[in-house]
Parts: sequence; C-alpha cells; structure tokens
Amino acid sequence: MDPSEQFVAELAHEFPKFRIVEKDTDFLSQSIDIALKIVTLGRQRSYLDGYYTVLGYTLYVPPGWARASPVDRVITLRHERIHLRQRERYGFPLMAFLYLVPFFPLGLAYGRARLEWEAYEETLIATAELAGLDAARSPALRARIVGRFVGPDYGWMWPFPKQVGRWYDAAMVRLERKLGATPAATPGAVT
Ligand SMILES: [Zn+2]
Repeated sequence: MDPSEQFVAELAHEFPKFRIVEKDTDFLSQSIDIALKIVTLGRQRSYLDGYYTVLGYTLYVPPGWARASPVDRVITLRHERIHLRQRERYGFPLMAFLYLVPFFPLGLAYGRARLEWEAYEETLIATAELAGLDAARSPALRARIVGRFVGPDYGWMWPFPKQVGRWYDAAMVRLERKLGATPAATPGAVT
C-alpha cells in the first residue's frame, strides 16, 4: 500500500463518513464552479481542475489527484484533515457559514482565512517532514500559498499580503524551531 492509501485509510478510521469524490463528474462541484465564476466575474476559473475542497466529510478532488505522487497526496490530505477536524470542532452549520458565506461579499472573509491558515500551516509542516525543509522554505511555495489568500482563487478572502506574509514567516519560524533547524533568512515580504 502506498503511503497515501495508508493515509486515506487512517482518515476513514478517524472520520467514518470520509469519502473522496472526483469533481469533474460531480454535479454539486459543477454548480459551485458556475457560482464562483459568476461571483468572481470570471477570475476564478479553476475550481474544478485546480483545487481540493472539503464539504462535510467529503473531499472533492481535481483530475490532478490521479497523477499526484504519493508524497504530494499525503501533504494534501494532511491539509484537508485539518478542515475535517475543524468541521468536528465547529459543527457543520458554523463551518459552512465560516467557509462558504463569506464568498458573499467577496474580499473580507476573516473566518475563512483563519480556517485556511490553520490548514496551510499543516501543509508547511507536512512538506518539511515529507519533502524536506528546503521544499518548505521554497519561495515559490510561499508565493503560491500567500496568493491563495490575497488573490481571486478563494474570492480575495484576505487581501492583505503583508499580514499573510507575517503569518507565513511566523509559521516558518515555529516550524524551524520544531525541527531544530537554523532559521533561514526570511524571504522578503510579498508586496
Ligand atoms: Zn484548505
């Protein structure tokens, strides 16, 4: 069994209702895709092929899931496990409110940004543990994750690059401390 299959089995044990659904053949995902294209005026066009989404106990995956390496799958699943645990912590109505409602209006979705931040911090930890600290320190990864918060991907959920950059740098300091690494020079703040 590859490590990602083993991790899926662990998730199914922790969350008996957990299941994985492919977005491109799923009616709900196609409806959300259309709604997102409308509310972002066409800027979010990659919901079906670029993003993983947890709703309830279901993980909706893009076509890239089939091609991802086992390590990349586990990193993704560790991020999504945080969302599953948040769902347990907050219950479905509050989670749905924090997560979905702030798309309307766009822009200031602090509750959603904090939920995502907790999960992205786990992405960094998993990346360091499974792919190496250098992979977690990658400026490209930083730009991609910060972009998720400040750009159209999630409807400009927290469009403050300096603040998100500070969250990121603080998370890296915690991570390096946890791993006992010498802190790397902090990359410049994204502006
Ligand atoms: Zn997430």
